[in-house]
Amino acid sequence: MSLQVTLPDGSCLQLPDGATVGDAAATIGPGLAKAAIAGRVTPAGDGDGALVDLSHPLDDGDAISIVTLKGDDPDALEIMRHTASHVMAQAVTRLFPGAKYAIGPAIENGFYYDFELPEQLTDADLPRIEQEMARIVKEREPIARADLSRHEALTLFGPHEGEAGIDQPYKVELIEDLQTAAEAEGGSVDTVSVYRQGEFADLCRGPHLPTTGKLGKGTFKLTSLAGAYWRGDEHNQMLTRIYGTAFPTKEELKAHLEALELARQRDHRRLGRDLDLFSFHEEGPGFPFFHARGMRVWNAVIDYWRAEHVRAGYEQISTPQILRRELWERSGHWENYKDNMYFTEIDEQPFAVKPMNCPGGLLIYKSRRRSYRELPLRLAELGQVHRHEMSGVLHGLFRVRYFTQDDAHIYCTPEQLEDEVRGVLHFMLHMYAAFGFEDVRIELSTRPDKSIGSDEMWERAEGVLTRVLDHETVPASGGERDDHGNEVRVPLAYQLNPGDGAFYGPKIDFHIRDVMGRSWQCGTIQVDFAMPERLDISYTGPDNEEHRPVMIHRALLGSIERFLGILLEHYGGNLPTWLAPEQVRILPIADRHAEYAHEVRGMFAGAAEEAGLPLWVSVDDRGESLGKRIREGQVHKVPYLLVVGDREAEERAVAVRHRGDDEGSTPAADVVERIVDEVRERRLPSPAD
Ligand SMILES: [Zn+2]
Ligand SMILES: [Zn+2]
Repeated sequence: MSLQVTLPDGSCLQLPDGATVGDAAATIGPGLAKAAIAGRVTPAGDGDGALVDLSHPLDDGDAISIVTLKGDDPDALEIMRHTASHVMAQAVTRLFPGAKYAIGPAIENGFYYDFELPEQLTDADLPRIEQEMARIVKEREPIARADLSRHEALTLFGPHEGEAGIDQPYKVELIEDLQTAAEAEGGSVDTVSVYRQGEFADLCRGPHLPTTGKLGKGTFKLTSLAGAYWRGDEHNQMLTRIYGTAFPTKEELKAHLEALELARQRDHRRLGRDLDLFSFHEEGPGFPFFHARGMRVWNAVIDYWRAEHVRAGYEQISTPQILRRELWERSGHWENYKDNMYFTEIDEQPFAVKPMNCPGGLLIYKSRRRSYRELPLRLAELGQVHRHEMSGVLHGLFRVRYFTQDDAHIYCTPEQLEDEVRGVLHFMLHMYAAFGFEDVRIELSTRPDKSIGSDEMWERAEGVLTRVLDHETVPASGGERDDHGNEVRVPLAYQLNPGDGAFYGPKIDFHIRDVMGRSWQCGTIQVDFAMPERLDISYTGPDNEEHRPVMIHRALLGSIERFLGILLEHYGGNLPTWLAPEQVRILPIADRHAEYAHEVRGMFAGAAEEAGLPLWVSVDDRGESLGKRIREGQVHKVPYLLVVGDREAEERAVAVRHRGDDEGSTPAADVVERIVDEVRERRLPSPAD
C-alpha cells in the first residue's frame, strides 16, 4: 500500500502507507529533513490547510509543504517561539517545584508564559531559568503529541491525589471552559491534545518543534518580568509573566537584542521623566499629567496643527465631556462600545463620559438648518475622550484611559466626497512629513460581513476611496530625477484589507514607521453612512429639498498623547528644535560672565518676539561646575548649549555645543539668527543621531 501527496511545485510524491510529514521531508532530501520543523497540510477536497507536527500521518491526496526556519516564514517563527515558551515552562517547574503554568503563547518578536509561583521572581532569576532551558535543549527530548480524552486530560492535569495528576489547576480550568463553550453550542469536547517533552506536559493545540534540541544554542533570551492577571481580569489571581524572545540564528537574536536596548534607551516613559515632561500617579491610573515643559512641546505641536487646519479650510469646535446616556443609545455607542465607557449621573439622570466626539459634533451640525452652500463643512475638534482600558495594558502615553484625539468630521454631498477624501489624504501625508515621518503605510479596508447601508452606498464609497488611492502619486523613495531634472513620481502604494472596514463604512488607515522600524497606526479616514441616518441630519439642496449629507470621520495624529510618545522615541528625546521644551541654555563659565549670559538671552527674546515665535531660552548660572551643568543640559537634551566666558563676552560671541557637537566660538548674533530660522522653518534633525 502506498499514498501520494502533492508538493507546492505541483509535483507528486509516493510514500508508504502511514508515512508522516517528517518522512515526506526525508524522501525529498536529507537537507530538508534536517531543516524541517513542521508541515502545512491541505487534505484533498478541503480548502483549509493546517499547520501540523512532523509526526502528523499523511493521507492519500494531501497537498503538503514543509515548514522550515530558513527564510522568513512567520508560521515557522511562531512554532519555534511557542516551543521556547514550553521549554521555559519546563525549566521553571524544575527550578520552582509547585509552579503552576497558565498560558504561554508566541507573540510578536517573542513569547511569554504566565506562572503562579511559590516565590517572587526578580530579574536576577532570569539567567538561571535560561541556563535550565539550555540544559533542556541539550537533552534533545522529543516533543510528542497525544490526543487524550477529556477525562484523561482532566486526570493528568488534576491534583496529585490521582495517579498521574500533575496538579495544574489553570489547565483544568481551560479544559472545563472548552467543554462549557462546546456545550453552549450543543456539543461536547471528546478529545484534547497534550504535548509532552520529558517530564513536562502541556495542554496545547500545537504544532511544535520535533525536539527540544531544535530550539538551538544561543538562540533565545528571557527579556523581562511583569505581573499579569489570570485572563487579564483584575479580580483574578495576579500571575508572574516571563517574557522571552527566540530567533532562528544567534546573529538574528543579537541584532534584535541590540534593537531592544536602543528602544529601552529611547523609552518615552524614561525620557518623559528625564526631560521633566509628564508623569503618572496612582491617583489617576492611565491618566497622564503633563508638566510645564511637557506642555511646551504639546503647544508647539498644537500651534502648528491649528495653523495647518485653518489653511486647509477647517473650523474648530468643542463639545462637552459628559452627555446624556440616551444620546449614546441613539448613536449606537451604547450598544457597541459601552464596555469601554465611563458612566455617571446628573440630577438622577444617566449620563456617559464621551469615548468619541462624533455625537456631540453632530448636535452642533443639527443646531440649525444647513444649506448646500455651507458644504463641505469641515469641523475639527481636539476632543478629550475617555476609554476604559484594562489596567494590565496601560503603557505610558501609548495606552492611556484618557487622551486628546485630533478629530474632525467633514459633512459633504456625495459628489464632493472624492475631493474631500483626496484633500484629507494630502493633508495627512503633509503633516506626517512635517514631523519627520516620510515612511507611511496605507491600508484600505472594505465592507465587512456585518454592515449597514445599501450595496449601492458601499460600492460608491469604496469606489471613491479606491479611485483616490489609485490616482495618487508620491516622489520616488530615492528622490530620483528624470533626464529633465524633474522629480520622478511613482504610484502611491497601499494594501487592500477586504472585509476589514467599519460596519458603517469603508476606511483608509495610515501607519507611520519610526526610526526603529516600528509601525504606528495614527491616522484614519472613515466614510460613514450610518451616523447621518441615526441622528437624522440633513442639508437643504438647491432644489429646496432636504438631503442626507455624507459624513467623513478623520483623525490625523490620532491621540496627541500617543503621538508625543512616538515623537519622543523616534528622536530619542532629541526633538526637532521647533518642538524642544527648551531650545537654548546659556552657561556662563564664572559668576562674572552671568551678566553677559543674560544679555545673550535678551537677544533671543527680542528676536523671538520679532519673529512671533515661542522660544525657550534659559541661563544656568548656578554655582555648579561647568562640566556638571553641561551634562545636565545633555540629559535634558537641550539642542543648543551656549557657553560664555571672558573671550566670548569680549567678542560678543558664544561657544556652541549643538546636540553633543562642539562647534566652537561663533558671533552671538549669528547663532540667534540661525536658531530662530531653524524654528521658523521647522527643520528636522536626523532621528538616528
Ligand atoms: Zn503550547
Ligand atoms: Zn467621528
